[in-house]
Amino acid sequence: MAKIAYLECSKCGERIGADEPRTVCPRDGGSLYVRYDLQALRKTFTRESLAGKPASMWRYADVLPDADPVTLGEGFTPMLPSRHEPGVFIKDEGINPTGSFKARGLSAAVTMARLYGLKKVAIPSAGNAASALAAYAAAAGIEAHIFMPSDVPQANLVECQSYGAKVTLVDGLIGDCARIIGERKQQQGWFDISTLKEPFRIEGKKTMGYEIAEQLGWTMPDAVFYPTGGGVGLIGMWKAFDEMDQLGWIGPKRPKMIAVQSSGCAPIPKAWDEHKPVSEPWPGAATIAAGLRVPKAYGDYIILDILKKSGGAAVAVSDDEIMDALQSWAREEGVFAAPEGAASLAAYRKLRASGFLKPGETVVLYNTGSGLKYIDVIAEYLAKHEGARSPDGENSGGRALGGIIQPY
Ligand SMILES: [Zn+2]
Repeated sequence: MAKIAYLECSKCGERIGADEPRTVCPRDGGSLYVRYDLQALRKTFTRESLAGKPASMWRYADVLPDADPVTLGEGFTPMLPSRHEPGVFIKDEGINPTGSFKARGLSAAVTMARLYGLKKVAIPSAGNAASALAAYAAAAGIEAHIFMPSDVPQANLVECQSYGAKVTLVDGLIGDCARIIGERKQQQGWFDISTLKEPFRIEGKKTMGYEIAEQLGWTMPDAVFYPTGGGVGLIGMWKAFDEMDQLGWIGPKRPKMIAVQSSGCAPIPKAWDEHKPVSEPWPGAATIAAGLRVPKAYGDYIILDILKKSGGAAVAVSDDEIMDALQSWAREEGVFAAPEGAASLAAYRKLRASGFLKPGETVVLYNTGSGLKYIDVIAEYLAKHEGARSPDGENSGGRALGGIIQPY
């Protein structure tokens, strides 16, 4: 495990000690990066040293904070070669504990919360981060206070309640949830574990970047498609690439980073198209992909900067395109993806059609979670659209789930 050298502000570069719990830069509210002495680590932490390490994100513990991990076996998820698209890989985060990529960031954040002796943590969430926090807080014996939109997928609510978290459903979106936590945290003694408002969720998520390199034989893909709500994983992977470069593990090549959002909530593609360094809050955000319903990401300035530096892009896809992609992955690859994850495939199709990507280029599409977390949402969509797509042209999804099974 690595000793933290200092925390560094992503806006002004200010260096802050990590000897007590930190949120954001006290000067300008910038998100904080965890920095280590990589030149010293370079001597002992080699690619070869990974042999025999656990098949979880903690195999990269040498570049994670020095603490006893609160782990449920998160990370080191499969990198599945597509059965239909040469060069395309599906990074399947759906098999993580609590069924989504959020496990990584919350494992790291709760690990540090426990190390700091924090007793109560709070999170605003579009769904999956709440489930992950609830599970890791339960494992750590810490109290979790969760604020989610009232129309969150049912699995998230039931999970949080089952893990014993204190759940408040809010008639609004994730920003409204964050505001309530902001107003009450001081009085209630909650530590705010919001996206990019504490430094360690990035550390957990960055392990996705290490895995891409290791699982692709220490080469960088040409592009990475990442469903972007808060964008922590995109920021984390970019940090990992930089760290691996400093460790001498990879060269200067970087993938084009593609931020994927829903056209029902697309602040990053809008800012990208308008060449703006920050996004504006998206009014009336609505999409089937609950995790993408983030009207304004706290770290939008970092995300947009990474897209630019990587020669990437930001792409919006419609709910219909998402659901069509979801069914393609299920039927053609055997992967039952979350709608957010399926958005990666929908965006990939767009960039292939536009010529932005060439056939045969190595591409990693992130499936961020399991479709099982969205059974109610997907069933409702299929029912509404009369079963959507069927290979033989017949309606195959009109059956009411949980209702009368019709004779076929
Ligand atoms: Zn700062």
